[in-house]
Amino acid sequence: MQANPTTAGSLFLVAAPSGAGKSTLVNALLQQEPAIKLSISFTTRDPRPGEVNGREYHFTTVENFLERRAQGEFLESAEVHGNYYGTSRILIEQQMAAGTDILLEIDWQGSQQVKKRFPGAVGIFILPPSIAALEDRLKKRGQDEPNVITRRILAAGGEIAHASEFEYVIINQEFALALSELNAIVKATRCRFAQQASRNTALFAQLGIHANPII
Ligand code: 5GP
Repeated sequence: MQANPTTAGSLFLVAAPSGAGKSTLVNALLQQEPAIKLSISFTTRDPRPGEVNGREYHFTTVENFLERRAQGEFLESAEVHGNYYGTSRILIEQQMAAGTDILLEIDWQGSQQVKKRFPGAVGIFILPPSIAALEDRLKKRGQDEPNVITRRILAAGGEIAHASEFEYVIINQEFALALSELNAIVKATRCRFAQQASRNTALFAQLGIHANPII
């Protein structure tokens, strides 16, 4: 069965305020679903302890970032917490064309931009169970300077205000439950008519299933 390169892959946009546990959830999902490719963003922020260039991010200078942006290299880009972040256009377009499932961990500004280009992208917003839990996680993570933590806590309300722009919301109170919900969204998305039809063209043709419903 031949995959239709235009729609076979799904594009997932996962956003959250800092400290909601987004990266931990996404990493656990990718362990369960290794076929999903995580997009590695470009950023001008400094690497945190343990972060590796090319693994968590492509770390770069402001000058280099702005140059790339001017060249149209980014599918989307945004300034978040005083640093620039952007998603490589070519990599996403190539993987979408190949029918690969892709996951972008980006903020609400980037999600809005990607939705304009790929309206079928599935937006998932991760919420903390409370603001206190968010503060607690950010402090316990201990990877950011106190002023960075304060800045992120202050920004959380503004980010959460955009949750309604996403199709799905996961409340990350109990990790195992949140992960199973994320996994369920991935599985449901893969069962969407358009995805199934484009992955299984021969079967759909044999069964006489038409792309448009017969009314
Ligand atoms: P952090 O510095 O904690 O890794 O990320 C800060 C924020 O930037 C998070 O909300 C994260 O999702 C967002 N972010 C990371 N990469 C990108 C990107 O490529 N584009 C956009 N718009 N936001 C990003």
